[in-house]
Amino acid sequence: MQKEKLALTSLNYHSKEADLEYFSVSQFKSFVECEAKTMAKLNGDYTEPPSNALIVGSYTHAAFESDEAFQAFTEQHNNVIFKSRGGKYSDFECADRMIETIKSDPFAMFALEGEKEQIYTANLWGVEWKIKVDSIHHGRMSFSDLKTTQDLHKRYWSDKYNGWVSFVESWGYVLQMAIYRRVIQENLGQTYTPYIVAVTKETPPNKAILHFDESRFEFEYEYVEMKLERMTDVKAGKLEPARCNKCDYCRGSKILKDTLEIGALIHE
Ligand SMILES: [Zn+2]
Repeated sequence: MQKEKLALTSLNYHSKEADLEYFSVSQFKSFVECEAKTMAKLNGDYTEPPSNALIVGSYTHAAFESDEAFQAFTEQHNNVIFKSRGGKYSDFECADRMIETIKSDPFAMFALEGEKEQIYTANLWGVEWKIKVDSIHHGRMSFSDLKTTQDLHKRYWSDKYNGWVSFVESWGYVLQMAIYRRVIQENLGQTYTPYIVAVTKETPPNKAILHFDESRFEFEYEYVEMKLERMTDVKAGKLEPARCNKCDYCRGSKILKDTLEIGALIHE
């Protein structure tokens, strides 16, 4: 007999209960970064400190969800958005410029059209996944996600890809689009095309609508499959979670037992 699956809604999507039952792209990325920290989060032993960047991100997202969602968000976070003497804090002024940049571009707005914040689940590679799609357009069989970044053309070193990559690969957005595409396939029986609408924090902001060469997804599926077996065992408590020894959680709970040869400093 199979256990009844937890039905996901916008209210419980980010709950610990949902995170325990389902994998998500952010949880997968968190496991890749540090198993110990991810397990501490799942066990309730550690809570991520609140980050301003996260609130700015939600603010920008809400602006494209609906006027009501944006208004509700602004009221709820009034004290972090507005200075006591009037005006907004600079991060939110920057967000306003990014929002305006996208809203005044008809092609970008076209790319963001669709049903907002749709939740889907599917079993992939033997585990349950949950996704929440920013914007999905069934008529065009496409979905899109708004991403903010420093600079469209900045290069980042990547061990995963063993080379220089753009912010899209560096932040795991190809992985995200690949998983979303697969979960949507399982639910709707059709292959939807992903797009990223990107806008930068520069003044004035730069912008682009990005598509993906199909061949990129296969690499991501193989990568996920390769990593998932160990992750599933760690999550189930069958394997001891490995510490990255670099993140805030590991630094804060570190106990030294050994010395490091200096070469290990840049090769781990
Ligand atoms: Zn760590």
